[in-house]
Amino acid sequence: MTNKQVYFFGSGTADGKAEMKNLLGGKGANLAEMSRLNLPVPSGFTISTEVCTLYYENGKYPSDLENNVNETLHKVEDVMGAKFGDSDNPLLLSIRSGARISMPGMMDTVLNLGLNDETVQGLIKQTNDPRFSYDCYRRFIAMYGDVALGIKAESDEESGPFEQRLHAKKEARGVTNDTELTADDLKELVAEFKAVIKERTGTPFPEDPNDQLWGAIGAVFNSWENDRARVYRKLNGIPDDWGTAVNVQSMVYGNMGDNCATGVLFSRNAATGEKRMYGEYLVNAQGEDVVAGIRTPESFDNLKENELIGHCYNELVEIAEKLEHHYTDMQDLEFTIQKGKLWMLQTRTGKRTGLAAFKIAYDLAVKEKLITKEEAMLRVDPNQLNQLLRPVFDIKQKQQAIESNRLLTKGLNAGPGAATGRVVFTAADAEIFKSKGNDVILVRHETSPEDIKGMEASIGILTARGGLTSHAALVGRQMGKVCVVGAGELQLNYSLKQFTVKGKTIREGDYISLDGSTGEVIEGTVDTRPSEVVEVIISKTMSPEESEIFQIYDTFMGWADEYRRLKIRTNADQPDQAENALAFGAEGIGLCRTEHMFFEESRIATMREMILAETQEEREAALEKLLPMQKQDFIEIFRTMNGLPVTIRMLDPPLHEFLPHTKEDIQHLADVTSIPYEKIKAQVDALSESNPMLGYRGCRLGISYPEITEMQTRAILEAACEVKKEGIIVEPEIMIPLISHVNELTIQEEVVRAAAKDTFDKYGFEIEYAFGTMIEIPRAALTAAEIAKSAEFFSFGTNDLTQTVFGISRDDAGRFLPLYVNKRILDHDPFESVDQEGVGVMMKMAVDFGRTTRPNLKVGICGEHGGDPATVEFCHRIKQDYVSCSPFRVPIARLAAAQAVLKENQQNS
Ligand code: PEP
Ligand code: MG
Repeated sequence: MTNKQVYFFGSGTADGKAEMKNLLGGKGANLAEMSRLNLPVPSGFTISTEVCTLYYENGKYPSDLENNVNETLHKVEDVMGAKFGDSDNPLLLSIRSGARISMPGMMDTVLNLGLNDETVQGLIKQTNDPRFSYDCYRRFIAMYGDVALGIKAESDEESGPFEQRLHAKKEARGVTNDTELTADDLKELVAEFKAVIKERTGTPFPEDPNDQLWGAIGAVFNSWENDRARVYRKLNGIPDDWGTAVNVQSMVYGNMGDNCATGVLFSRNAATGEKRMYGEYLVNAQGEDVVAGIRTPESFDNLKENELIGHCYNELVEIAEKLEHHYTDMQDLEFTIQKGKLWMLQTRTGKRTGLAAFKIAYDLAVKEKLITKEEAMLRVDPNQLNQLLRPVFDIKQKQQAIESNRLLTKGLNAGPGAATGRVVFTAADAEIFKSKGNDVILVRHETSPEDIKGMEASIGILTARGGLTSHAALVGRQMGKVCVVGAGELQLNYSLKQFTVKGKTIREGDYISLDGSTGEVIEGTVDTRPSEVVEVIISKTMSPEESEIFQIYDTFMGWADEYRRLKIRTNADQPDQAENALAFGAEGIGLCRTEHMFFEESRIATMREMILAETQEEREAALEKLLPMQKQDFIEIFRTMNGLPVTIRMLDPPLHEFLPHTKEDIQHLADVTSIPYEKIKAQVDALSESNPMLGYRGCRLGISYPEITEMQTRAILEAACEVKKEGIIVEPEIMIPLISHVNELTIQEEVVRAAAKDTFDKYGFEIEYAFGTMIEIPRAALTAAEIAKSAEFFSFGTNDLTQTVFGISRDDAGRFLPLYVNKRILDHDPFESVDQEGVGVMMKMAVDFGRTTRPNLKVGICGEHGGDPATVEFCHRIKQDYVSCSPFRVPIARLAAAQAVLKENQQNS
């Protein structure tokens, strides 16, 4: 350990600096840095986090700490021209915690320390203001009593004893505000507060400033282990052994009169990123008054007009610019003006919206050339791109909605963006409402393939059940819908066409709003703003020149493409989805789920005929009818993708998903197909399974009914031949789902290769195509070396792989995974971001094993995780070739793939 324990700052020098956050905490390091920059920082010192650790290890402070503190305190006295404990001109101190990472409000603070019956007279002398002085004194006693002596409220229902005395005093004086109490009232309170301390602790209030100082230092160190701080650390993954620093700093006051103020200032707008300072201040007030919101603060711009303190405006602007330049990032500053003199209390990198993050990083790199493009890319979170690509809520309106109790519930944030619309409960109603010009939100227990058209007609989808890989989540996301799933508190009643939640009933046609980025469900409307990027590149309702946001987006994407190694593909099974993805920069289709193509009204009947067929001939006849339909789909997709690779997956879902389930629907099918009702019913029953997700699906279908695989192969390759004849390059990849044993794959390969040969013979020329498989069952990953003998490519189906590695049903995960995450059993939902220690190990193993057999094996991922930045980085690290994700996540994946390279470079340098 370093021997230094106490780090001085003030008067243009400091023992510490910004890089020493681990030792001095964020606040201490930045105070030191500001002091080095010669900014007006009230002098003080920081006791290091190492002292905290030693204190916890040994149960006492290091033996020389007291001397070090005393020596440094003298330095502070010299700088500030005041003396700690002096009855003429007392130095007063603030004692605050400061961890490496800010833990707002979790630990303790003591202000005005050093006051006692003697020094308060000195303060009166210095300020000529007995009321102010006694106000400081009573606040100090209350804070010290609470923080250092542990004098709290006796029950949750009542306020603390100091608060009670204050309240009683106001009542006795017939006033409502603290400010209306006189100096004498406050002096009386001082005596009463001291009496409380004597009564509750059995010892008198410590008059000796030194005892106060050590009491407060101890309290701050102890607060590292209070319940709040412990929970916060656990929730935010902050190690317990980091410890906190203690910052001891001279007090300055913003409440000594009208030539005083306190405020905050952002060096740029934190909401929009605009290069314009933005802040608020209160004249004659303390920091806590700004936070408490009792008085409305004034806008920073007004400061320059203030007769008494207007001169601080320019000084603040200069300081903010200097700090921003120094840290090369937007800063969030706290300041106090004491009797016309400006003091800086804090600077830190300012929190900001996603939009602002991109704008600021862009401006700093492109316009101001303060940072490099590599730094700019690393400054943003790829997920924040959602705020540029999706509609967003009017922030104020949303806040008001939540404050006025309109938050109905919270589900899982499956498809980001903001949607306001009218509630419907069936896919058919969604279409009807939409046709009448309404924005629609479809609310279901869960969605199924039959709901696809209704989902398409909706702008938002809300389900009560299901996790992040449920049908609603993955299809909704692919369509670009705002989507909240697994909102378990919703009580849906389809027959009454309503849902209830928290005692409120929402009926068909009522408005609700969904925040797909947070999972919030809000009653009523909230205004939304469309994405300018989408307006430029998808709907083409705006030109690139008109939109600065688009230009920022485009610049970042250009940079990302220069750096990334991973290719980015998309999951799409319709030409319009593919087109959107291309506009977002997709370089191929990584997953075309062919089953989605069978749900159109014109096709479902033929599909059902195929499923209900009793003989192979009947089945083949039905397949013969399906072939031209599938072929047409593939022709359109190949045309749209224009030479880029397209991975098409053979039929995957359990067949019962295609059959009707209600009595009415079965009857309807019987009527239109002339197949007897009983026969359909019997087949529906026969196909029902206890656990369909692990049942008769995937390659198991193609193995039982090779004619399905054969038809699909022919449809794909005939389409490829047709499109090639048009002069368009095609690169089909045929993919078999849910393999666990190599024999499953080889038996399907025979079918595919034979159908391919037939097709090429028929056309008189050949098309190069790849044959491969999904890796989504642990056995397939474990035996990847064998599987790669047959497969030319692997694509990780991480939805199923997560389901099977964890043994958690993906459809039911929504019921309990949020609890797991809340309790920190898992640090994130493994259906959202790949579980790198478990599922990820299996993936890496599969890549390595596969490439021992086939060194040039192409590997990708097409589970929902493919658009998650952490997963993308992981896929880069295990040397995959590409990731595939829903169209709107393509830009996110592009940026994440570039970050993966930049982080790797940083580690290697
Ligand atoms: C997967 O399992 O990850 C996958 C992409 O396939 P599906 O979600 O269709 O089962
Ligand atoms: Mg799967």
